[in-house]
Amino acid sequence: MKVDIQLTDAGISFGGVHALRGVNLSVAEGEQICIIGPSGSGKSTLLGLMNGRLLTETGSVEVLGQDLLQLTARQMRELRCGLVWVPQDLGLVPNLRVLQNVLCGKAGRLGFLGLLRSLLLTRMSEAEEVRSLLERLGIPEKLYERTDTLSGGQQQRVAIARALFQDPVAILADEPVASVDPGRARSLLELLTGVARDEGITLVMSLHHVELAREFFPRLVGLQAGRVVFDQSADETTDRQLRELYATGEK
Ligand code: ADP
Ligand code: MG
Repeated sequence: MKVDIQLTDAGISFGGVHALRGVNLSVAEGEQICIIGPSGSGKSTLLGLMNGRLLTETGSVEVLGQDLLQLTARQMRELRCGLVWVPQDLGLVPNLRVLQNVLCGKAGRLGFLGLLRSLLLTRMSEAEEVRSLLERLGIPEKLYERTDTLSGGQQQRVAIARALFQDPVAILADEPVASVDPGRARSLLELLTGVARDEGITLVMSLHHVELAREFFPRLVGLQAGRVVFDQSADETTDRQLRELYATGEK
């Protein structure tokens, strides 16, 4: 099985406080894993180490076969093109059209001028590609609508379309459903895990909500105070383990 992400004794501290310590974790190509743990346990930091936003201070982090500590800034940028980051608030620009928001996904690759050009002179083939992505997500008629006129659920679909438009190897999502109601959270997770599965895209997500993590992810990684306390299939994970994971209270 090909490995996409490999952390070996990874760790990082902020102002002398260990945010993560001695983390060993391997994510295979196409795998879907969910990182759970109380607030302050290191979930965002772990995702940050995976996409190179943060660099490990111990051991190593390898992504798509490359040691992140060895990469030049340019190599890092290229690598990150294959890793899509879905932020907590979805990161859509409200007053842009849906098409433009989806095209924005490639901003990192195009640079500022390239992005400007692509927003002004959208090629027909690109618009078609975006339309077919939206079709797949059930909102083809929204291509030219202003994004802020869409419902919350439709905006989630736009965010997924934007992620897919980048043709990613992996999607890293940091609590993408933290601020939405449970019904909408469930539909986003259903869509995202389904599309990732169909496309063979690796999916690493952090979630605060353990029941959703259990329902949608085959593998759960439990973090507590910067350490991995379990890494196992969702089926094996007991209620007791989950209670204990959150029992120490929020840091
Ligand atoms: P989680 O996402 O699980 O809530 P984080 O990864 O955000 O946890 O944080 C883990 C720990 O690292 C916390 O104690 C937090 O305060 C600390 N931390 C994270 N990022 C920074 C930072 N940029 N500066 C200082 N402390 C940080
Ligand atoms: Mg966080």
